[in-house]
Amino acid sequence: MSKNGKILVIGGGISGITAAVEAAEVGREVVLVEKEPYLGGRTVRMQRYFPKMCPPTCGMEINFKRIRNNPRITVHTLAEVLKITGEAGNYDVTIKIQPRYVQDDADIPNSVIEKLSSEVSDGYNMGMCKTKALHIPHPMAFPMQYLLVPEALTDDERELLKNECPPGAIDFDMQPQEITIQVGSIIVATGWEPYDATNLDNLGYGRHANVITNLMMERLAAVTGPTQGKMLRPSDGKEVQSVAFVQCAGSRDENHLPYCSAVCCMGSLKQARYVLEAAPEAKVTIFYIDIRVIGRYEKFYYDLLKEERVEFIKGKVAKIEEDGQTKDAVIEVEDTIAGNKIRKPFDLVVLATGMVPSTAHSKIPYEDLQYDPYGFVISGNGNGGIFAAGCAQRPVDVARSVRQATGAALKAIQS
Ligand code: SF4
Repeated sequence: MSKNGKILVIGGGISGITAAVEAAEVGREVVLVEKEPYLGGRTVRMQRYFPKMCPPTCGMEINFKRIRNNPRITVHTLAEVLKITGEAGNYDVTIKIQPRYVQDDADIPNSVIEKLSSEVSDGYNMGMCKTKALHIPHPMAFPMQYLLVPEALTDDERELLKNECPPGAIDFDMQPQEITIQVGSIIVATGWEPYDATNLDNLGYGRHANVITNLMMERLAAVTGPTQGKMLRPSDGKEVQSVAFVQCAGSRDENHLPYCSAVCCMGSLKQARYVLEAAPEAKVTIFYIDIRVIGRYEKFYYDLLKEERVEFIKGKVAKIEEDGQTKDAVIEVEDTIAGNKIRKPFDLVVLATGMVPSTAHSKIPYEDLQYDPYGFVISGNGNGGIFAAGCAQRPVDVARSVRQATGAALKAIQS
């Protein structure tokens, strides 16, 4: 039995949330730390997710309720772990919490928000649109609290907030806080980042307006996204008639990510359905090396193969150029089955970018923690009382993340 039964969970995505509620519901005290202003990680930004193709509201609302109803879970958002010392059973952890500049229970009148014109990039929507400098990050944010970006405000707007918000609701002097806690075990559920598609110079992401990533496509398809779910291309807002998906964008490539990111084939098949449903005239082409789908998801693939408006072409895309006049994204590829070269324009191209563990660039501040060569955390006895869950450990989908997180919670309880 550990000397300290409290568990720290680093990362508030689906894995971290699952680990936290599973451990707390069997009686453990849990501290859940998330760097974003809200819980839910990547999952909460999806339009739908496997296996049931639910919107994130389904599973997330239940989990948020479990957190709300469990006094054993303490949640810190806008928070990061600065330092961990000690050993299994006795870790000292320093956590830094950034200010929101708004009191947690503040009731800001809508009339005040409407008067603000300063905007900031909307992180929830992958920077595809803007949001007010004082905002709730998204419609199902947990916690449902305002976030203020003071540096974006004009002097007049600062005065407006001082004069028209309830007394004490806005605090421009709020400072970062550092706290230290003691825990017996730690679950690393720090999730993943998309591979930086600007590294794929031949595919033109960042230079060509109508080349986007698969995460951006999730927001484009969402009713809470920048186009309210309409399939409009970024360059001119035209409804898309042709969409291409480029698989293995960065993954399975010795120059980028040598491994398979595991979820991006299923992701593109799912997003092809988004296009078919939202744009009834649109055609979809999927350029692939191999289609990798697992278990019962195969049926989803076979069903899509029967769709007349979907074409699969086996070939690694060599280049994407932009048509200077139409802004179409023009793909060059060799069809390895037909044996011919193709050059074809599309309204929109979606790169199925791979998965990089967040720990590849931002290590957990505990010197004995072990990683594989790509930055995934090695979970096991070598790491004492520290266990990894979900995509911190390897590329996995939501269902597997949940199962792994339950396992990690059990190990943390037993460690
Ligand atoms: Fe490529 Fe599919 Fe593997 Fe993703 S899941 S890396 S798209 S083969």
